[in-house]
Amino acid sequence: MVRVRFAPSPTGALHIGGAHTALFNYLFARRLDGKFILRIEDTDTERSSKEYEAIILESLKWLGIEWDEGPYYQSKRLDLYREKANELLKKGVAYECFCTPEELKERREMMVKMGRPPKYDGRCRDLSEEQKRELRAKGLKPALRIRIPEGKSFLRDAVKGEVSCSNDSLGGDMVIMKSDNYPTYNFAVVVDDIDMNITHVIRGDDHLTNTFKQMIIYKAFGKDLPKFAHIPLLLGPDKTKLSKRHGAASVLEYKEMGYLSDALFNFLSLLGWTPKEGQEIFSRDELISMFCLAKLNSNPAVFDIKRLEWMNSQYIKNMDDSKLFDLAKPFYEKAKINVIKDDYTLRAINLGKVRAKTLEDLVNTTKYFFIDPELTSPEVENIKSNKSTLLLLNRFLELVNSNYESHTDLENKSREMAVSMNLSFKDLVHPLRLILTGMKVGPGLFEVVDALGRDKVIKRVSKFLS
Ligand code: GLU
Repeated sequence: MVRVRFAPSPTGALHIGGAHTALFNYLFARRLDGKFILRIEDTDTERSSKEYEAIILESLKWLGIEWDEGPYYQSKRLDLYREKANELLKKGVAYECFCTPEELKERREMMVKMGRPPKYDGRCRDLSEEQKRELRAKGLKPALRIRIPEGKSFLRDAVKGEVSCSNDSLGGDMVIMKSDNYPTYNFAVVVDDIDMNITHVIRGDDHLTNTFKQMIIYKAFGKDLPKFAHIPLLLGPDKTKLSKRHGAASVLEYKEMGYLSDALFNFLSLLGWTPKEGQEIFSRDELISMFCLAKLNSNPAVFDIKRLEWMNSQYIKNMDDSKLFDLAKPFYEKAKINVIKDDYTLRAINLGKVRAKTLEDLVNTTKYFFIDPELTSPEVENIKSNKSTLLLLNRFLELVNSNYESHTDLENKSREMAVSMNLSFKDLVHPLRLILTGMKVGPGLFEVVDALGRDKVIKRVSKFLS
């Protein structure tokens, strides 16, 4: 059975890169009827916080990435890491190292001076029992290291294919337990991945060096490797690693800006993956049924906010009005606009959703249904300086007051009226839109007239003319 994990460190909110990794793990698990495990990597007690953890969980829930097991906490599993490290010590695979941070730093600097890559020089590899006793007596507490063998390591990665790495570049014998008896990141990850029976480790390309280190720990335990899949990194439009500089925010910030969970889910899935040429909108089920690690692109993917906006607008446009109302309600509240779910509001949403990129935008494209628009004085003067417009508006008021069958009927009648007055219909339409909506563009004007209702239309136009 396939078992994957998402293992965030709660040292910050869930960002787009983390969500992308979580999503690919999720799609893979669902595609193969496997299990998706959530593990909180919180052994760095100084930088981890419960607040960030809560934000990460909320972000995953909002995105619809449900976990099947967990969350497990590394901070509650310290005994296991200590026991496993001892096992390696007893086997003779790991050894005690008494070098102090100051000594290590000094020696590293020396190597750099001599033009050599800085790495641990193996000084404590073969200490005698006697030497260790002496060092202990001095009050020194040992860290545990495991040997990094000479040579090269090879990995068959599910996305990148065959990759290799010279062991010489891994920094020398690796610390697995620090002298404070806390595991290092790489060690805790391997102990957990083995203990949790993880079959596939799917994570960002930036973890490749860690993977080569972790492979050595698997070997030390005599365990088979899981399958590794290093997924493409995300870049900003300037082709540098995606960061806040590019306006990329945390998952919950996208929620607050009015992006829909379905749209972000869809958008993130297509970063580094093209399920089908020529198609961009996919349902969650479609994405699950088509997901395949081997089809992922190993090149970095560019995060393009315009594409996300476009996708979001498609989801908004195609969403049922009542559902859209529920999602948009907090955004109306934020804008201090009182809305209730009735036919009037739903019709407003139906008309406004066509042009909205986000839920926040939807509030803007429908605001005039709830609040009288305010025109700027140049706009007012501009309209008032056109005599034909004033004539047309006055006659239009009479028409709205009379009987008409539908908005198309009203439009036809207005057109005929302009023709009979020998005036241009355009001189009515543009000013009328501005007076009724405060905007220069929008949905069909006569549909808007119909949706606003006779009272509001008469009130706004008469107030303008008065
Ligand atoms: N805690 C690590 C991170 O947040 C997870 C790495 C892994 O998936 O092994 O980057």
